[in-house]
Amino acid sequence: MKKICPVSGKEFEITNDDLKFYEKMGVPAPKLCPRERQRRRIAFRNFTHLYQRKCDGTGKNIISMYHADQPFPVFENEYWWGDQWSGLDYAQNFDFSRPFFDQYAELADKVPRVNTFNLQSENATYANFAWMAKNCYLVFGCVRDEDCLYGHIVWDSKDCVDNLYVFRCEWCSHCTDCVDCYDVHFSTESANCNESYFLHDCRGCTNCFGCTNLRQKQYYFMNQECTKEEYFEKLKNIQPFSEQTLQSGKQWLEKLKKEQCIFPPFFGVKTENVSGDHIYESKNCHGCFDTKQCEDSKYLYTAHGEQNCYDISFTGANARFCYECLTIGNTENLLFSHGINQCSNLAYCELCYSSHDLFGCNGLRNAQYCIFNKQYSKEEYFKLREKIIQHMTKHGEWGEFFPTKLSPFSYNESIVEEYFPLTKKEALSQGYKWKEDTETTHYEGPKVKIPETIEEVTNDICKQILTCEVTGKHYRIQKDELRFYKKMGLPLPRVCPDERHRQRMELRNARVLHNRSCDKCGIDIQTTFLPDRPEKVFCEKCYLNEIN
Ligand SMILES: [Zn+2]
Repeated sequence: MKKICPVSGKEFEITNDDLKFYEKMGVPAPKLCPRERQRRRIAFRNFTHLYQRKCDGTGKNIISMYHADQPFPVFENEYWWGDQWSGLDYAQNFDFSRPFFDQYAELADKVPRVNTFNLQSENATYANFAWMAKNCYLVFGCVRDEDCLYGHIVWDSKDCVDNLYVFRCEWCSHCTDCVDCYDVHFSTESANCNESYFLHDCRGCTNCFGCTNLRQKQYYFMNQECTKEEYFEKLKNIQPFSEQTLQSGKQWLEKLKKEQCIFPPFFGVKTENVSGDHIYESKNCHGCFDTKQCEDSKYLYTAHGEQNCYDISFTGANARFCYECLTIGNTENLLFSHGINQCSNLAYCELCYSSHDLFGCNGLRNAQYCIFNKQYSKEEYFKLREKIIQHMTKHGEWGEFFPTKLSPFSYNESIVEEYFPLTKKEALSQGYKWKEDTETTHYEGPKVKIPETIEEVTNDICKQILTCEVTGKHYRIQKDELRFYKKMGLPLPRVCPDERHRQRMELRNARVLHNRSCDKCGIDIQTTFLPDRPEKVFCEKCYLNEIN
């Protein structure tokens, strides 16, 4: 059946398989199109905006994703996870004369929240949404990483600096969408490559520089085959790398991508019956983006290890039968929930752990049969739950994720701005909040000149305040960062971490599939490349014929 999304005004399709899924989950078909559902969810996630404030439990100065002007108390990690308080102390009765979301908003405004969402992590203070991360600095959405700096969605990786969406990589920097790479830099959409620079869509390559579409190759320099001696001679001529070498390398790769490179309809590794982009080791997944090791699912966005799930964003691992959820892990049968780990049978819950059978709860641990944080017997719980669902259905609330106005974050504070960019004017006119940039740095000393090559840099650079060449913001070089660049022989970055991240995000297409025809055989394909983009995009068959 076809529906019109009331937000985007666009038509979207609900298939018979979708209806079966919704029926199994006990929910009506969604009102919004998948893209608007995604936008509504991820507006609840602030990834990178960290503020200094006081812990409302201990009074200590802490950093937090919640600004001090938020209505709810914020506790530092150790205190939040301790026994000094309980979410059950904030219990509310359900009032059948009022809508559900208004009452939930009151609960969410009073239950304490944890300052940053870092679980089982060690020495990763300046991080958010880090899970099992060790010795990491300014990493966001990073899982099982060690000794990584400046990463967004860097998973199972070690000694990596400044990357976006990399998986099982070591000693890599400035890479986007790379898998199983070692000592690879400034590269995109490549897998199983070693000791290389400026690659795009290369697989199983070693010692290559400035190349695209290569398979199992060695010693290629600017897409030309060389002998081993020639390759290292060419490399020696441009080493130590200067800032200028890096700029030329980037420009060369961009030129190759526009003029020579052949793009597949989507970037994937070991996939079967999938659609979307950036899908690895997954099968029967459709409309999925940035999905790893998932099966039988639809509309997953940055997901790992999901099965039989729909509409999930930014998940750690192992969710089964979950629908319209954000940041969940080790969960089963969740509906419209956010920030949940080791739970089952939850609906409309946020920040709950090791619990089951909760409805409309916030900040509970080891709990069961609660509604609005109030304890009920098992029998009372199921009776009241059913009654509330009827009440919500009457008010048009049941079956929809929390409305965006319940997010504690402004549009430009949450990650939604990175995936659905809007200007301030557009955001305000669409009813979102907007936060003014309040960053204040008081450095007024002389501008520090960063040496052209890493060889000229001394340890003193770590004491200095640098000025971003693009934004004018101030930033520093960390000791571990300097060590990395010294070891890799790469010059220090001249732009601040936020700008580096923004430039990497710019290399990725929006999460929208467009109809286009194969540039070789003309058949219809679906791809994230808009029809008027200059890149050559082939259907899977033509691409494989040409490349492998
Ligand atoms: Zn074709």
